[in-house]
Amino acid sequence: LAEAEYRSLFENAVCGIYRDKLDGTPVRCNPALAAFNGYASEDEYTEAVTGARVTWYVDPNQSNEFKKLLAAEGRVKDLVSEVYRHHTREKVWITENAWYVRNADGVPIFIEGTIQDATERITTLAIIERQVNIDTLTGVASRFRFINCLEAETRPGKHGCTLFSIDLDRFKEVNDFLGHAAGDIVLKLVANRLQSLVSEPRLLARLGGDEFAILQPGLCNQSTVETLAKKIVVALREPLRINGHDLTFGASVGIAMFPNHASDAEELLGNADFAMYQAKSSGRNGFRIFDFELRADIQHRKELKKELRLAIEDDQLELYYQPIATAGVGTVEGYEALMRWNHPKRGFLPPSQFIPIAEEAGLMTDLGNWAITRACQQAAVLPSHIKISVNVSPSQFRSASILVKLRNVLQETKLDPSRLILEITESAILSNELIAEKILKELQALGVQIALDDFGTGYSSLSYLQRFPFNTVKIDRSFVAGMLDLNANLAVIRAVLGIGRDLGIRVVAEGVETQQQLDALLREGCELIQGYFYGKPKPYSEIASDLAIQQLELPRSNLPANSIRLIS
Ligand code: C2E
Ligand code: CA
Ligand code: CA
Repeated sequence: LAEAEYRSLFENAVCGIYRDKLDGTPVRCNPALAAFNGYASEDEYTEAVTGARVTWYVDPNQSNEFKKLLAAEGRVKDLVSEVYRHHTREKVWITENAWYVRNADGVPIFIEGTIQDATERITTLAIIERQVNIDTLTGVASRFRFINCLEAETRPGKHGCTLFSIDLDRFKEVNDFLGHAAGDIVLKLVANRLQSLVSEPRLLARLGGDEFAILQPGLCNQSTVETLAKKIVVALREPLRINGHDLTFGASVGIAMFPNHASDAEELLGNADFAMYQAKSSGRNGFRIFDFELRADIQHRKELKKELRLAIEDDQLELYYQPIATAGVGTVEGYEALMRWNHPKRGFLPPSQFIPIAEEAGLMTDLGNWAITRACQQAAVLPSHIKISVNVSPSQFRSASILVKLRNVLQETKLDPSRLILEITESAILSNELIAEKILKELQALGVQIALDDFGTGYSSLSYLQRFPFNTVKIDRSFVAGMLDLNANLAVIRAVLGIGRDLGIRVVAEGVETQQQLDALLREGCELIQGYFYGKPKPYSEIASDLAIQQLELPRSNLPANSIRLIS
């Protein structure tokens, strides 16, 4: 009965069971084992296997491994291997267990064991492993694999590594306008281009979205790093063909090195990203290597941004006024309002230290509108022949609020609009000439005057003077500074003065510091002068008392009166 019971278990078991001699010759096996090896019966199997020397394990070392385990521990437990089915030579994965059968003296005489098909389990594992380690969309390494490798490369005892953080410029636009399918094609093509630059031991990964990264193990000198960075930028600058369109993206690359720039993987990633954002904000399509000073500087700017938001409310801003004089006659005809920030801790800050920050923080329009309001309020109480010039930034110029603001302020202060001059630069016009033209016409309709500021530094298009309704053009101080030495500068000044005369546009020379400059300008017929020679910008209270006390006495030119050509 007992024999029959065990036989039934043996015959019906789903896993293969065998007993072999120590040399591997089969003694018994069950039907499942025969079937596993591709035979109809136990006898067929035993006959085929006995004396046949065929490999069982796909990996030849596995046989030794099996024997070693058995010898050492008397059994093999859950060993996973890839084997050939005996009859069909098909490869399959198995899990096997085996043990010795010993005689009364404890000496092994047989090996018994079980075999289970593990193919499905192993394939599923392999698929999962693949999915976890490989980015399914592009086929490059996944974030998971990348972070694992990065952590391995930043462990103590490693020699260092370099991390490139790569972000496509303008990828979002493609996703928004052409759809996600097009976005996916872009990512695949980008991955291919990057992969062509990266070979072992470097590792390319997609970290998510349009963010890629390259890990270069080992210490690396600056020039190797820069070479790869340049290659990346150049490769991603070439247009990609998507759905029949040629699209140009460009990429920004940030680089951080271990251990110079970080003490662990996380910090390294953060600093490479930081450098990447720096590259992006300084015009995109380039690369940046992380540096600590830069980060401190950014920190400083962040603080200033926060403080600047409060500065308007807290009344920390002030307008200084610099005279614009009619030099030939010697009278002040107006002032340019120049902003200062009376910072509670840092003292008086000039515009160069906060205007770029205001632009970045989107505060420029608020700041500029504040300046217009304050200038109009203050101008309204100055003598009526005094004009006030206020600078208007490009963003403020294009914002819808400026016209509303002006209308309200002019009404509130009752300032004669013709006493207000708005100074704009060419860049305000450049980005959209049609809109600029429209705004300029509306400003003109309000009765305010418009000056073209910093002429000579930008695009310097003389045609702008003809096309747009400027009342004044201001020659930039760099031209005035160079006019005595550079004929080219003098020629430009002459041309501007000529056009000014023809079109009835007043010309102001900025940054006049010396008597010689003044004389030369007067010789050319430029009589509106601004610069340290006539006065630095000063607080409102000072000009108010100057104007109340006296008609300003200004130094006159030494030139005889008949050598001075006046504009009007
Ligand atoms: P800007 O409009 O060209 O103003 C003239 C700048 O040249 C002023 O600098 C003035 O102090 C300086 N300057 C005047 N005469 C001389 C001179 O003889 N020699 C030298 N070396 N410099 C002279 P500031 O006040 O530092 O202003 C710099 C810039 O900041 C201005 O250049 C203007 O573009 C901008 N800015 C100032 N206030 C405002 C404002 O309220 N709104 C806007 N949007 N921009 C402003
Ligand atoms: Ca100006
Ligand atoms: Ca200027």
